[in-house]
Amino acid sequence: MRFPLALTVKIASHIVKHKIARTPKFAMVLQLEPLHTCNLTCTGCGRIREYSTNLKDMVPLEQCLGAATECDAPMVSICGGEPLIYPKIEELIAGLHEQGRVIYVCTNGVFMRKKMRDYLSAVYTPAMEPKLQRLLKEQLITEKEAEAIRKAEGAAKTKVVIRPSKWMYWNVHVDGLEYTHDLIVEREGVFKECIAAIKMAKILGYQTATNTTVYKETDVQELEDMFKYLSSLEVDGHTISPGYDYDAAKKDMAKRLGRDPKEFFLTREMTRQKFAKIQEWGKMFTIFGTPVYQEFLAGKRELTCTAWAIPTYNVRGWKAPCYLMTDGHYGGYQEMLGNVKWENYGVVDGKARDPRCENCMVHCGYDPSGALGTNYQAGDNWKNFAYNFGSKPKPVAASVELEKRAYNGTTIGKGHLAEAKAAINSPRAAMNGAQSVFQRKGHHDHDEAGLDTTQRDEVLAKLDAAKKTEVKAE
Ligand code: SF4
Ligand code: SF4
Repeated sequence: MRFPLALTVKIASHIVKHKIARTPKFAMVLQLEPLHTCNLTCTGCGRIREYSTNLKDMVPLEQCLGAATECDAPMVSICGGEPLIYPKIEELIAGLHEQGRVIYVCTNGVFMRKKMRDYLSAVYTPAMEPKLQRLLKEQLITEKEAEAIRKAEGAAKTKVVIRPSKWMYWNVHVDGLEYTHDLIVEREGVFKECIAAIKMAKILGYQTATNTTVYKETDVQELEDMFKYLSSLEVDGHTISPGYDYDAAKKDMAKRLGRDPKEFFLTREMTRQKFAKIQEWGKMFTIFGTPVYQEFLAGKRELTCTAWAIPTYNVRGWKAPCYLMTDGHYGGYQEMLGNVKWENYGVVDGKARDPRCENCMVHCGYDPSGALGTNYQAGDNWKNFAYNFGSKPKPVAASVELEKRAYNGTTIGKGHLAEAKAAINSPRAAMNGAQSVFQRKGHHDHDEAGLDTTQRDEVLAKLDAAKKTEVKAE
């Protein structure tokens, strides 16, 4: 089967229950944002710009669990911010397990290996040595880390940890192959870390998925190569959604990067071009999302937005009308359902009911429409059934060629900072003081691996100044 039977049955029975009860609007997936703090500053991320990223602004654990109970969505996607920074993430996942939810932990992947080492420390017995040896052989843990896992005792043994489960997916943010991904997350080395985390997760038996946002600059062939590579790692599924010019991201783009959002985000027409092959990909790879939504993305039909089915809960309450757009926050899910004028949103028959919805085709607005039978066409139920219960696409065979195509960035000296580094290391740039800026490290809450965006921006500004000086001198 394409997806685990227990999961498919759980979701299908939730829909049937509400259809029988004729519930007009109900939740399918809760987007739970326990915090908005993040260790990255990705281009296009509205979250870290729209909300406070202060660690003090967090949703308490009980409130997170209460939100899941309140809307009763069978699936909970824990996002943010970076959810692995949430101090009670293990307890949150454990609590959602107890409630019987399907859990997606949407992460940028940077702290995943740390969390899996915590798991190994808690459960290690000599019988696990072969797994540890494999992790060592594939350089996914160091000798020192392996020793710490073997010798763990006390609190490390009793700590609540994130265990592999058929009800939980790591959902790793991957926006392209190495060069593109690191460019979008504005930091080199992140793609490599994501892949290491995915490999480690697969060895340890975690279900592992990826989520990809497609931008104007995303190359379609690269997406296919990315899916092939991820398939060769036996990743269990992929969410793919178009990035469009929603308010917060648009403002950030113009203000911080001085770029016109039109250069970066997709219009409806462009989305349809980018997603022309989505149905083909659906056959080749385990793409999450109904075939009806895939037809919509490919421009073969229209759907009406059902954003109420994927509500977002965060530090300010229930966010309306949708994950991307904010017109208000409510104290309760039912209160939000009752008060929001849903008929004012979405695109119907090609006409945007709200100008901000014009280019939106995102999965959190339209994927549930495919599952819930909105804009039903004859044969849709059968299509959805055949897709979910059909056989899982076979993994693509791993190959050196695929690996080479995947590592097309900093690993081969083609990182997006490479040009800056080269110039800064040149004697003339050094004279202009660029080198000292580049060398300054670690004053933000990032690890030692690289520069943060502020530093990068400073470096590029210096670089620009250095170039102008060179031109004048010539
Ligand atoms: S990883 Fe990137 S997209 Fe995700 S919350 Fe952090 S900055 Fe935003
Ligand atoms: S179409 Fe729906 S999901 Fe998209 S921006 Fe509008 S309300 Fe939000």
